[in-house]
Amino acid sequence: MSEIRYNRLEDSYVIIAPERLHRPDYMAWSKEEENVASCPFCEGNESMTPPEIYAMRPNGSFADEKGWESRVVANLFKAVQIEATYILKHDGANKVWDGFGAHEIIIDTPKHFNSMCEWSQMNYFTWLKTIQARIKDLRNDQRIAYISVFKNHGVSAGASQSHPHTQLIGLPIVPKNIQRRYDRIYSYYMSSGRVLMDEIIAEEKKDGRRVVLESDSFIAFCPFASENPFEVLVTSSTLSSEIDKIEDEKLQELSKLLQKLFMKMQVQLGNFDFNISFAFEPLNRLLAPDISSSNSNPICRFSIKITPRIYKHGGFELSTAMMINPVEPERCAELLRESDEAN
Ligand SMILES: [Zn+2]
Repeated sequence: MSEIRYNRLEDSYVIIAPERLHRPDYMAWSKEEENVASCPFCEGNESMTPPEIYAMRPNGSFADEKGWESRVVANLFKAVQIEATYILKHDGANKVWDGFGAHEIIIDTPKHFNSMCEWSQMNYFTWLKTIQARIKDLRNDQRIAYISVFKNHGVSAGASQSHPHTQLIGLPIVPKNIQRRYDRIYSYYMSSGRVLMDEIIAEEKKDGRRVVLESDSFIAFCPFASENPFEVLVTSSTLSSEIDKIEDEKLQELSKLLQKLFMKMQVQLGNFDFNISFAFEPLNRLLAPDISSSNSNPICRFSIKITPRIYKHGGFELSTAMMINPVEPERCAELLRESDEAN
């Protein structure tokens, strides 16, 4: 029996329809031929990328040479450019901006790992610290209203490079779906005095069926209205969405949880294609003037979403923006809980 479920956080509906599982594209993931020698992101090939914007070089090596733990470079195929002018123009009744913004590639590791399941806890920590450093820096640019941080892994997820990397796009506007999400979180707080994500976390903990992993500050669960099979949200009821303000001790705790989670996912899904997206609050605080006076925003929680790309969406999803998910989140969580990472 299928169900239509409502997503309180995104204000959207999803159809959970297990009977569609027979469709042949389910569980079809991409297999790529590796060519590590010509990979521009591998250690030793630094000359194949634009000059580095930032790097973690704990032993003090020179820029654009070997000896790094993570590197950040400009994207060669930029969606937006930091050199562009930041001016609103009018084309008849249409509004147009030059493509101003930051588009950076974070090269997560010097090694050409095939999957995040092979990462050490230290690899996860370095990855998070690098994201933290870039957000901290870009926060100083008053022209940037929103930063999107995301990861595409595998062809089905839109990746063109197989070497582990993350992308960051800083925009002069706040995307409409992000603005609507934070408007909802904000008005919920103003009307009830409660933080929406904290309520969702408390309900998930009480129910328990969709919880995959928990640590002191973090929880990983398959959301009630998951749009995709094995979608996992990692969030916290004690940490704000400002990742650049999270202490090292907590980032280590998160690294440990993510390492465990990815190993569990690999047991269930093999070497799966996926997207990761970080939820950040808009940097443009005009959006929520009543909380702009405080330094830390108390109502937006840290969260990252892992979306395995193992089921292709079709015309219904395109025409309605309403997804059909062929596996119940309760079943996905159960399988992930039971997966012993040592298997
Ligand atoms: Zn590589």
